Amino acid sequence: MVIRMERAGKNARFGSRYGRRVRKRILTVEAKYKGKTQTCPFCNTKFAERKSAGIFYCKNCKKKFAGGAYEPTTLVKRMLNKVYDKKGKAVNKQIDIKEIEKLVEDIKQKEETQEE
Ligand SMILES: [Zn+2]
Repeated sequence: MVIRMERAGKNARFGSRYGRRVRKRILTVEAKYKGKTQTCPFCNTKFAERKSAGIFYCKNCKKKFAGGAYEPTTLVKRMLNKVYDKKGKAVNKQIDIKEIEKLVEDIKQKEETQEE
């Protein structure tokens, strides 16, 4: 039992359940977000905290907002912000397909490095 706890780290609490990949992702998510305040997208201060899945509350500007399950903004939202403005109009009407492909590749690379 002691040996298994050392090897599996914090994820030993799951035992053999949920699969290897999910347990690995939990480790990275908890290291980044658990018990830590996040950057608020409205006032750019580090006072936003997670209330429940996808719901965040900023103690500084007292706004409640939706985000990713564990992070205030998701990778996809950041990508869409580069393409569209807040009213939903395209920021750059002559955006290249190559630029979008580059963004998608960046996302894929980030996900691959997270899984390793
Ligand atoms: Zn705020």
